[in-house]
Amino acid sequence: MIKIDNLHVNVSDKEIIKGLNLEINAGEVHAIMGPNGAGKSTLASTIAGRENYEVTSGSITFDGKDLLELEAHERVGEGIFLGFQYPVEIPGVSNLNFMRTALNGVRRYRGEDDMSAAEFMKLIRVKAADLKMDMDMLKRFVNVGFSGGEKKRNEMVQMAVLDPKFAVLDETDSGLDIDALRTVSDGINAQRRDDTAILLITHYQRLLDYVKPDFVHVLANGKIVKSGGPELALELEEKGYADVA
Ligand code: ADP
Ligand code: MG
Ligand code: MG
Repeated sequence: MIKIDNLHVNVSDKEIIKGLNLEINAGEVHAIMGPNGAGKSTLASTIAGRENYEVTSGSITFDGKDLLELEAHERVGEGIFLGFQYPVEIPGVSNLNFMRTALNGVRRYRGEDDMSAAEFMKLIRVKAADLKMDMDMLKRFVNVGFSGGEKKRNEMVQMAVLDPKFAVLDETDSGLDIDALRTVSDGINAQRRDDTAILLITHYQRLLDYVKPDFVHVLANGKIVKSGGPELALELEEKGYADVA
């Protein structure tokens, strides 16, 4: 589904990603772990097409297409979703409006008709209930006054509504208490199918108890320095990054 080949990325003229290779097939869940400042969020932003992330060499192919040729919103249309490490607050824009606009943007990109307000409400009620998100929170401005955990849960509602082919979740587990972690994990597992792929970026093994990855990679200093199965996450937790990678 996605193939990243010898990727180099500069941020503010400084090289952050330094020759990264990663291939993820449909049906797979991969986890990337690594120390702070390794370049995990930079990789996520680069896949999403964030401005000021300058790819100096290498390629990213998504479903056979050159992803780097596409604008951020086109990448979303193609089925890419990014759950932010630090979800932004958008005062003045209701959560419901935000999600319906995003969904209809994707539908238009694919040549489909807009979803009506009534249809959308039906969909969002189901998704909100699945993720134990209060409907009142969906009427509020996007993330404004939400706790850290509520923001992360909100990212999962967005993901469920957009139903992406490939979801990159950047530290979606941080700031969650144990009940929220379970709910969010259920949301991720619901998105796990034969025709989807998921990249989990996480500091902690804890999330991986609930969402079992097929592959675990260690990202250090802008490169993947080690790959393995779920046992690698346990080893990292026990011994730390310095000893394992
Ligand atoms: P991680 O998510 O693995 O903790 P990041 O990708 O956020 O790491 O950051 C990698 C490195 O890039 C860090 O040294 C960070 O300071 C630097 N960096 C990230 N964003 C910027 C930016 N906008 N300007 C300058 N440096 C940045
Ligand atoms: Mg970090
Ligand atoms: Mg980060």
